[in-house]
Amino acid sequence: MSERVILADCCEDWILQWGGFYPEGGAFACPECATEWTKARGSAFRRVADGREFERRERRGPRPGSAGGDAAAFPYLASVHGHEPNVERCCAKILLTHGAAMREGSFVCPVCSTRWEKRSERLHGLRVPVFEREGLAGPLTIQAGRTRPFLVSVSEYSPPRD
Ligand SMILES: [Zn+2]
Ligand SMILES: [Zn+2]
Repeated sequence: MSERVILADCCEDWILQWGGFYPEGGAFACPECATEWTKARGSAFRRVADGREFERRERRGPRPGSAGGDAAAFPYLASVHGHEPNVERCCAKILLTHGAAMREGSFVCPVCSTRWEKRSERLHGLRVPVFEREGLAGPLTIQAGRTRPFLVSVSEYSPPRD
């Protein structure tokens, strides 16, 4: 679980959707992994175990022209102390949802413009999707987790048991 270990997806999803409803100083736990959190202030949340703080931010698309309406927005939690996961939330969401069915070749994330290369590889006798981008330590694949899939280095992949 090394790629997005800085902040578990389950905690990020929970805080992005429900965090705004907690009062300042309010304590809560992620219902999926039981990690304890407090709402530090405004849109900042502190993980109790290590004191790391994460703040809600948004990436915005271009303003719609004559059609009107709001620009597309993608919220995420950024580390207040500057340690970021090496895969952006937008890319992780897209690869976990669409990655397996994606055509081989390059794919550009519409949110953060990261360019990925997708191919397939045989790992432990299984054909798995593999994703790579510049600057990453090594290629990634999709690992089935206890409650949801996550991205792992190909070298850390273990096949599903059943
Ligand atoms: Zn969690
Ligand atoms: Zn992205």
